[in-house]
Amino acid sequence: MEIISAQNIVKQFGSFTALDDVSISVPEKSIFGLLGPNGAGKTTLIRIINQITAPDSGQIFFGGEKLSPKHTEQIGYLPEERGLYKKMEVGEQCVYLAQLKGLSKKGATKKLKEWFEKFEMQDWWKKKTEELSKGMQQKVQFVVTVLHEPKVLILDEPFSGFDPINASLIKNEVLRLKNNGTTILLSTHNMSSVEELCDNIALINKAKVILHGSVREIRQQYKANTYEVEFTGDLMTFTKALFKDFELLEKHVDGANCKAKVKLLYDKSPNDLLNTVLPYIQIQSFREILPSMNDIFISKVQQTEVHATVGLTE
Ligand code: ADP
Ligand code: MG
Repeated sequence: MEIISAQNIVKQFGSFTALDDVSISVPEKSIFGLLGPNGAGKTTLIRIINQITAPDSGQIFFGGEKLSPKHTEQIGYLPEERGLYKKMEVGEQCVYLAQLKGLSKKGATKKLKEWFEKFEMQDWWKKKTEELSKGMQQKVQFVVTVLHEPKVLILDEPFSGFDPINASLIKNEVLRLKNNGTTILLSTHNMSSVEELCDNIALINKAKVILHGSVREIRQQYKANTYEVEFTGDLMTFTKALFKDFELLEKHVDGANCKAKVKLLYDKSPNDLLNTVLPYIQIQSFREILPSMNDIFISKVQQTEVHATVGLTE
């Protein structure tokens, strides 16, 4: 079941097209990554889904219904431009914001105390917001976004501005929320955690969706018949045995241990590769290498760039 569906969204700012016929489909209870370089159009699409701006054409559906203001309360939204009241105390401000989302003062305070403990932010409660660093403020804002347990969470660049430890804290929290049945739509220009995090993605580049689908299927689709062979034995003999049917892409020698990345050429199978090299080595491990989303992302973006310069369309 899909919970959010954007269909043929077009958005222009003057003569500039920020979204050009963009369609995405977000399945329920999963993590959907809106990926793409800076300026691709991610935030614009997120603002449209949050009904902050309207598209010039196209439609958004929420749980099968045409998106309308009544759906707002089912969505928790962390905007890219974080904004808290600078002069207000952190705890007081969180309680206030939670009340706006429909929680009682008592209920909000209880829940907030739990979150502050979990995220080791207890000491911040009485501080003025302006006394917190940008990353600390962002942590506070994340808590405020998820506190009322919305059905759908929309997080615009949730990891930017965080150090690695806090980024991984937020990542684990996002995974836990998914396991509890929340649907998460997040944008990121950083591909490093996409594999661990996202079930489905849309890659946007220059206002257009250039790749859409499940991370598992996309990685299968872009795999390049590449295998990693770890062995002990003589690397020279190994390399000679590969001859013309296999290409050695990378090698790494550590004492008697060798690790080689090999590409199958022509119609060679993994069995052929093993049969070819086994007489010469002691095998330790053998596995297929799937491309990372980062590799796919870079090659897709470059490909569209090349097409654009020679005047081809996707
Ligand atoms: P992303 O979030 O992927 O980095 P954005 O959606 O913020 O990208 O922006 C996409 C493009 O639209 C950018 O070129 C940006 O300058 C332009 N843009 C976004 N909002 C506005 C606006 N309000 N007025 C004019 N141009 C805008
Ligand atoms: Mg953005």
